Amino acid sequence: MKILKFGGTSMGSVDSLQKVAEIVEREFFKKTKFAVVCSAMSGTTDELFEIADFASNGDKKRAFEVFKKIKKRHFSVAKSFGVAETFNFSIEPIFEDLENLIRGLLLIHEVSSRSRACLAAFGEKLSTRLLAEILKTRALPAVQLDSDFVRTVNGNFENSEVDWVATRKFTLRALAFPLENGQIPVATGFFGRNEAGILTLLGRGGSDFSATILAKSLGWKTVEIWTDVDGFLSADPRIVKNPKLIRDIGFLESSELCFFGAKILHPKTIRPVIEAGGEVFIRNTFFPENPGTRIAQKVPADCHPFVSITTKKVGLFSVDIFGAKFRKSTVFSEIFTTADKLGVSIDAIAASEATISFCVEEKFLKNEKFTAAIQKIAPTEIQTDRTIICLVSPEQVRGRAGVAAELFDALRDAKISVELYSQNASELAQLVVVKTPDAVVAVRAIHDRVICGKCFLTNKFAIKNE
Ligand code: ASP
Ligand code: MG
Repeated sequence: MKILKFGGTSMGSVDSLQKVAEIVEREFFKKTKFAVVCSAMSGTTDELFEIADFASNGDKKRAFEVFKKIKKRHFSVAKSFGVAETFNFSIEPIFEDLENLIRGLLLIHEVSSRSRACLAAFGEKLSTRLLAEILKTRALPAVQLDSDFVRTVNGNFENSEVDWVATRKFTLRALAFPLENGQIPVATGFFGRNEAGILTLLGRGGSDFSATILAKSLGWKTVEIWTDVDGFLSADPRIVKNPKLIRDIGFLESSELCFFGAKILHPKTIRPVIEAGGEVFIRNTFFPENPGTRIAQKVPADCHPFVSITTKKVGLFSVDIFGAKFRKSTVFSEIFTTADKLGVSIDAIAASEATISFCVEEKFLKNEKFTAAIQKIAPTEIQTDRTIICLVSPEQVRGRAGVAAELFDALRDAKISVELYSQNASELAQLVVVKTPDAVVAVRAIHDRVICGKCFLTNKFAIKNE
């Protein structure tokens, strides 16, 4: 019993939908229960948000240009699969609703968050109806379902939370009939409804979350996220020539990688399944024969002390504590409060008696309010054009000597100077900040040594785990 979730690129073209249909068909012939959750066709959600912006400016022409583009994309795929007529039948009322909504918003020149949510959800409503028709051409008993059974709370229309108890009740009710009758539910990702029945979103990229919500509510333990990459790699293939596919990874390790640049999924979204003792697989729709990556709470003790390296562009702040009007602890609290108030997240931090250094994602450097507020706390030097490199180890290395030494040996041999180093107490991730022009050389050197090479620690680690 599993959920198959297909992302935007998997839903994005005739070729990819062909692959999706083959994957679903293969699953169907295994004769075990499963359900499908889909994102919108790639680009569609962004376009729906564009429509919202045009409508709020009263720009009728551009709003409808985008509307037509979306319509054309769906119909041209439907035509290629020879399902234009049946698709038209199931979709006509949806496009009618969408058109009416756009006209209404244009009339009042105002788009509330509640309206934006309602607009954005059309992407999934369309893509799932399209996929259901495509599956039917293979005589697969697909039934499209809108995810109205996901009950949300907290009044935030575009990024709401889940009421698990109610969601479980409604999900079991909504899926009972199709599952008992051997049908394939094809459910929309991304949205649910709050207690008042108003449509709300689960945040951008929320379809992964929809998949795990469904799994948890049904008591199922497996979710496959079908996307356009093979899974987690030991490094970015654009940087290193020979990255290795990570077959098994612990949830915490995968979360570190996601926060520091591996844009595969948002860790929050898979938590419900992992916490329930389940597994999430990352699979490549375009190469379904590849094994993918399995994420679970505990993974087998690998013989390798390092898992992967990721990078992210950052700005580096050095705050001079002696120049501040406050005590050191107040400087800390002022920095964190300011970041929190302005929606800036701090990625890594290192402190001494004299300075507090921390880095934030490059995009936050444009937030002048933030940089000005930090300068007001104490004299601060801000370095731009920096990259944070995150080296992740499996849980089993905890307490082992020599892990950091491997990283620094690689950097010394490559003659790269480190501007900030931080390792959290879980010992899962080591973070170093280097000048961006040095980052590629640094990553290659680290990868060569700790992933591909026979570093000193690897041998000792393997012996311990035998
Ligand atoms: N279509 C939505 C988005 O682009 C949800 C998803 O794809 O996960 O954010
Ligand atoms: Mg996604």
